Amino acid sequence: MLNRRDFLRTGLAGSLLLSTRLRGAPATPRPAHGASDPGQARNLIFLVSDGMSLGTLTLAERHLQRWHGRGSHWLGLYAQPGVRRALMDTSSASSLVTDSAAASSAWGCGHKVRNGAINHAADGRPLTPLFHHVRESGRATGLVTTATITHATPAGFAAQVKSRTEEPLIARQYLDLGINVLLGGGRKFFDPALRADGADLLADYTRAGYQVMTDQAALEAAPADRPWLGLFADGYIPYELDRRADAALRDRVPDLATMTRAALRALSTHPTGFAVQIEGARVDHAAHANDIGGLLHEQLAFDEAVGAALEFAAGRDDTLVIVTTDHGNSNPGLNGTGGNFNTLGESYGDTAACFDRLADLRQTNTWVMAGLNTDSTVPQIRDRVHAATTIALTADECDLLRRALRSEPHAAYRVRNSAQITLGQILANYTSVGWAGTAHTTDLVELAAFGPGSEAVGGLMQNNDLFGVMTRALGVGVAV
Ligand SMILES: [Zn+2]
Repeated sequence: MLNRRDFLRTGLAGSLLLSTRLRGAPATPRPAHGASDPGQARNLIFLVSDGMSLGTLTLAERHLQRWHGRGSHWLGLYAQPGVRRALMDTSSASSLVTDSAAASSAWGCGHKVRNGAINHAADGRPLTPLFHHVRESGRATGLVTTATITHATPAGFAAQVKSRTEEPLIARQYLDLGINVLLGGGRKFFDPALRADGADLLADYTRAGYQVMTDQAALEAAPADRPWLGLFADGYIPYELDRRADAALRDRVPDLATMTRAALRALSTHPTGFAVQIEGARVDHAAHANDIGGLLHEQLAFDEAVGAALEFAAGRDDTLVIVTTDHGNSNPGLNGTGGNFNTLGESYGDTAACFDRLADLRQTNTWVMAGLNTDSTVPQIRDRVHAATTIALTADECDLLRRALRSEPHAAYRVRNSAQITLGQILANYTSVGWAGTAHTTDLVELAAFGPGSEAVGGLMQNNDLFGVMTRALGVGVAV
C-alpha cells in the first residue's frame, strides 16, 4: 500500500512524465510481445469519450497544435508501433443510432441490445456483464466517470437493468458486485435524503468497508487498501470549463485525469490485476447542446485522462488499453470561411481567426443559459454572452436569441429552435465551428488499442466484437 508521501512522489513522477510529453515526446506504449502466454493481459484500461464525433477529436487536435505546441495523446498513439486502429459500427439492436446504454452493453456483454436497456436482451433475458467475469477471475474492478456513476456507460460494464433510468438500483448492484473503485457524480442515488426510497446506500457502502468521499482532498488521501466510493456531485460533475472558472469547484471537485490517476493508483495495488472503465461523459452533453466551449474542454480533459493511462502503461506489457467512443454526436466541425459577414457588413474573420476564438472561451453555453430567461433583454443577453465567451454579439443576434428564449420558432431545421441551440448556432458565426444536428449519429467511430490482446483490433468492427477482444485478453468468461 502506498502511504501519502509515496503517493506524492508518484504524483510528482507522473507530472514529470506529463511535462516531458508537453514538450512533444509522447509516451511509448510497448506492443505485446512473445511471452509464454501471448495475448494475455493482467490489466484492462478502457477509455471512452462519450458521444465523440470525429470532428470533436479533430477540433481538440487542432486546438492543441495551435495553442500548446503538441497534438493529443489519443492521435499521438497512431504514430506508435504496436498500436491498432479500427473503425467501429455502433448501431444497436433497435436502431441505426445507438444510445449509451445499448452501446456500453454491447461492449459489456457481447450482444447488441435495444436502446435504453443495460445488459438485457430484447426478450427480457439478462446478459452477464464483463465485470462479473472479471470479478470471478479474482481481479479488481473500477468505474470512473464525469456523469453520475450509475449512468448508462459505466453501468454497461457492471449492471443488469431493463432500463437505464433505474439508477437507484444500479447503485445497489455495484455494491452487490463489490466494485473496488467508483469515482464520479451521482450522490443523489446513494444519499437517503435524495433517494426516493430513502435507502441509505452511503451507510451500506461504509459498512461494507468502502472509503466514502465527496471531495478532492479526501480522494488524494484515500488508502489504497480499501474499496472507494467517491461522489463529487449530486448529479453530473460540472463541465470542465465551468469547474475551472470557479475557485471553490476547482478545489473541491477533481478533474477526470485526477480521478483516473487515483483509480489506477488504487487498482494497481491489487495482486491479480484489474479492469477499469474511464468515461469522459460530458463530451456527449456538450454536443447535444451545440456548446463548443463545453465540448472542446471536455474532450481536452478526456485526453488528459488518456495521458494518465499512458503514463501507467508506459514500459509495461501486461495492460490492454482501449480508447474509443460509444457513438458520434451532432458532428461538430471547423468550416472554411471567407466572406462571412454580419448584418452590419463586418467580417467575422478568416477560418483561423474564428477557430482561435475558442482559446478565449471562459464559461460554457450552459452557464450562459442559466443566467437568462424569457424576460431577458438584448443588453442582458449581450453582457452574459460576452462574459462567457469574450464575443460581442450584434443587436440582431441578441434579438434572435431573445426570441428563441420566448419559444418563437425561427429555424428551418426544427431541432434548432431551442434557445440553447440558437446560441450555439449564433456562436458558430464567430468560431466557424458548425453543427450538423443535436443528437447521436450513426457515423462510424474511432477505436485505438494496444497491449496484449489488441492484435484482434483492426479494420471495421462491430461494437459488440470488443467484448470478445477483452474477455480473450483477460482469459475470462466465454467467447460470444
Ligand atoms: Zn447522448
